[in-house]
Amino acid sequence: MDQTVIKYRHCGRDIYTFSCSLYSFTQQTDDVDRSACPICHHTLTFGLFDAPVTLTCPFMNAHQVSCAFVIGSVHGPSYLGEWHDTEIHVGVSNSEGLVYNYTLSGVKRDDLGWEQCVCVQLVPPWRHDLRESWDRNLEEFSVLSEWVSERFEEEREFGSCCYGFALTFINRMRSLDGKLSLSRDQFTGSYILPRMKTVSTYIKIYHTILQHGFYKLDNT
Ligand SMILES: [Zn+2]
Repeated sequence: MDQTVIKYRHCGRDIYTFSCSLYSFTQQTDDVDRSACPICHHTLTFGLFDAPVTLTCPFMNAHQVSCAFVIGSVHGPSYLGEWHDTEIHVGVSNSEGLVYNYTLSGVKRDDLGWEQCVCVQLVPPWRHDLRESWDRNLEEFSVLSEWVSERFEEEREFGSCCYGFALTFINRMRSLDGKLSLSRDQFTGSYILPRMKTVSTYIKIYHTILQHGFYKLDNT
């Protein structure tokens, strides 16, 4: 999902397409087909204040997002639209973008492989004191006997293990900050689901453009 999605307005609709299809339009102004609106087939002209808007991609490189709860999928970002435990893998990044995640072979510290993820940053970047304590606690937490590979299957009974690892760490940091623990449902509901809605919409738009060349929203 590395194309840039843009949105423009024509014949009373918001129309989404990949930016590259419009670049070729501007570079080949004699090519009328490329410049036509896919709905009304009238030639598109972009004048002053008509610049298409770039849609923000909800996926980020987790190795560049510090102190975050990170959601990825081994099958690629397209699988992040549906909230299925079997499709997703979650981890926690430290201030250097190293992603700690609990797997069948114990806790892994990845500096690669989490390039297209949903990231929920949990520590403000300017709180250097908190970032330091986050890193130190994350390292200490990840070597606890609780997270050895042999216990992975056991943990599975309580929902997905990687999620349990990440949330237990987050709750440990919350308690150090004098805050109450969050249940899995509370954390998911407050921090994850609102973002996943945006992600699902983005994936739907992206796949429709891949299939049909554009996506339209009737909102006259
Ligand atoms: Zn049109």
